[in-house]
Amino acid sequence: MTTITIAKGDGIGPEIMDATLTILKAAGASLQYDEITIGEKVYLAGNKAGIADDAWQTIIKNKVFLKAPITTPQGGGYKSLNVSTRKFLGLYANIRPCKSLHPFVFTKHPTMDVVIIRENEEDLYAGIEHQQTDEVVQCLKLISRPGCEKIIRYAFEYAQQQGRKKVSCFTKDNIMKQTDGLFHQVFNEVAVEYPHIIKEHLIVDIGAAKLAATPEEFDVVVMPNLYGDILSDVAAQISGSVGMAGSANIGNTCAMFEAIHGSAPDIAMQNKANPSGLLQAAVMMLHHVGQYEVATTIQHAWLTTIEKGIHTVDIYKEGVSKQCVTTAAFAEAVIAHL
Ligand code: NAD
Repeated sequence: MTTITIAKGDGIGPEIMDATLTILKAAGASLQYDEITIGEKVYLAGNKAGIADDAWQTIIKNKVFLKAPITTPQGGGYKSLNVSTRKFLGLYANIRPCKSLHPFVFTKHPTMDVVIIRENEEDLYAGIEHQQTDEVVQCLKLISRPGCEKIIRYAFEYAQQQGRKKVSCFTKDNIMKQTDGLFHQVFNEVAVEYPHIIKEHLIVDIGAAKLAATPEEFDVVVMPNLYGDILSDVAAQISGSVGMAGSANIGNTCAMFEAIHGSAPDIAMQNKANPSGLLQAAVMMLHHVGQYEVATTIQHAWLTTIEKGIHTVDIYKEGVSKQCVTTAAFAEAVIAHL
């Protein structure tokens, strides 16, 4: 039995976490949970960080964390706990697979199967932002050679282990010659160690345009933190829905698994969110803790449910879908196919 930490988060978080936990239980996952409360509720109760010390201790003790999305105030309020957790736990690699499920889920890109590997601790997300004068604010973009080496080697190792053929790198090194320049330079250096894998570099603006127009031409794509955050949402959305993609945040000792999307306050407490992103994250987590059989069982049941056209509203389409179901009913359908 593996003990993991869970947090139900904000917005749609509790609904999609309950759906995911119900499926994990029905599939016989050998897991027990230490539940912590973090995010908006904790902040509003007076804890300015949105997380208590004992919650940090629980995360560190269990090493594996399944987290639902958290609301982060825009333009003020507490710092993003997602970013803090990734930095605090040294979760340097963020793996975000975005795969079409054509013809079962509508997409203009039936063969797309892209994995975005996002650097997760540095760049403009290092959290160093300050007021310089009354009228000028500054955010520092930090890129280190060890940081680049870790994430780029991770991307090539991932490609090798998963039998993928190409690793693309996106940077803006024509403008940010030193920071993105270093990322590109390290990419070239590490790529030499993997001669059997095709490598390419694209400036991020045209890379983003091509990823949106012809995602099927990409395989593994590695990029600095900010570009990876934005482009993984784009990739997930064009593969079917931002609600479909899960992610793994991997470090040397700890790992955190979450959906790539946010807390979706616009649909919170309506029982209509797609729990697939968090469920996919949970499947990645089961692999991480060595529960491969349960992971495969859940993945098959999830795919069968989708293939049968049992869809939540975000992916429901006349002529493709058969039934538009609630979050809880989707979870029940997955369980019925276990
Ligand atoms: P969002 O990803 O929450 O929502 C964007 C759109 O996608 C919304 O229309 C929403 O309804 C839809 N959507 C998202 N997930 C869905 C799902 N599972 N099923 C169906 N539809 C879904 O992005 P946002 O509205 O920009 O952000 C809301 C909050 O989430 C913000 O406070 C933001 O900071 C936070 N956020 C948290 C995380 C995280 O916890 N890792 C990630 C991204 C954003």
